Amino acid sequence: MQGNVRFAPSPTGYLHRGHILSALYVWAFAQKHNLNVHLRIEDHDQSRMRPEYVKGIKEDLEWLGFKHQTYSIQSKKDSVYQHYLQKLQEKKMVYPCTCSRKKLQEENPISQTGEIIYQGACRFILNSPQPFDFSTPHALRFCCPDKKIEWNDLRLGSFQENPAEQCGDFTIKDRHNQWTYQFAVCCDDIDENITHIVRGEDIRNSTARQIALMDVLGRPTPPVYYHHPLIVDASGKKLSKRELAHSIRQDKDGGINAEALLGLVCYEAQLQETPQPLSLDRAISIVIASL
Ligand code: GLU
Ligand code: ZN
Repeated sequence: MQGNVRFAPSPTGYLHRGHILSALYVWAFAQKHNLNVHLRIEDHDQSRMRPEYVKGIKEDLEWLGFKHQTYSIQSKKDSVYQHYLQKLQEKKMVYPCTCSRKKLQEENPISQTGEIIYQGACRFILNSPQPFDFSTPHALRFCCPDKKIEWNDLRLGSFQENPAEQCGDFTIKDRHNQWTYQFAVCCDDIDENITHIVRGEDIRNSTARQIALMDVLGRPTPPVYYHHPLIVDASGKKLSKRELAHSIRQDKDGGINAEALLGLVCYEAQLQETPQPLSLDRAISIVIASL
C-alpha cells in the first residue's frame, strides 16, 4: 500500500445516497492509487451521535460491499486530541473564548458562506497576567495564522485562501467541552497518516484552515485533496437535507437491492446515463474513469 485514504461519516443519522457517492469516490481512489481504506466514525459531537447509527453505518457499508482495512472512532481518541491540544498550548496558539453566541453574532462579520469571522475578542487572554478561571463557560480557539494558504485540488485546481479572512480563530473545543470537527479531523488525519483526502465539495471551504492547523500540529506537507461533485436535482441544485435524509435503510426496507441502488446513485451523480443496476466493481470502475 502506498498511503491511506479515509471514509469519515458522522453517526448523526443513517447513511444516505450522498454517502454512497462519497464512498464510491473513496474506494475508486484507493483502487486507482493502491491505497489502504480507513473507516473513521466521526462521533466527536456526542450530543448528536447515536450508537445505532454507528452500527447502521457499518451494516450498510457491508451490505453494499465496501470493505475497509483499518478503523477508528473519535470517541476513543481523547488522549490523541489531548496530546495535540498540549502542543498548541506549548506554542501559545490556543486560548479560551468566553463570548456568548449572541456576542459572537453581534460583534463579528459574516462571510459570504454564512460563517462568523471571529475577530479575536478573547485573544488578549493569552497574554493576560491574570490567570484564566477555567470554571467560566468557554470554548477553546486556535490562533489561526494570518496568511494565504496555497493548496491544490486534483479536480478543482489551485486555491489561495486565508483562513484568518474566512473564519478567523476557530474553535477546537466548544462550550460543552466537546472537540470540534475541525480539530478532531486534523488530529486524526495526522495520527492515522492519511495521505489522500477524498470528500464532497461541500467541505472544500474547510481545507485551508485544516492545512493551517495541521501545519502547526506538526504536519507541514498537506495530504492530496480531491473534492468530488455532489448529487444534484434536475435543476442543478444540491439535494436538500430533507431529500438526502432519505436513508439507504429505507431504500433497503423498500426492497431495493444493492446493485440497483449503486446504479441509481451513479445515475443521479451523472456518472451513467440510465439508472441501470451496477455491481460495486463496475460502479467503482465508472468513477475511476471519471477521475
Ligand atoms: N464527517 C464529515 C461528514 O460526514 C466528513 C468530514 C471530512 O471528510 O473531512 O460530512
Ligand atoms: Zn471570544
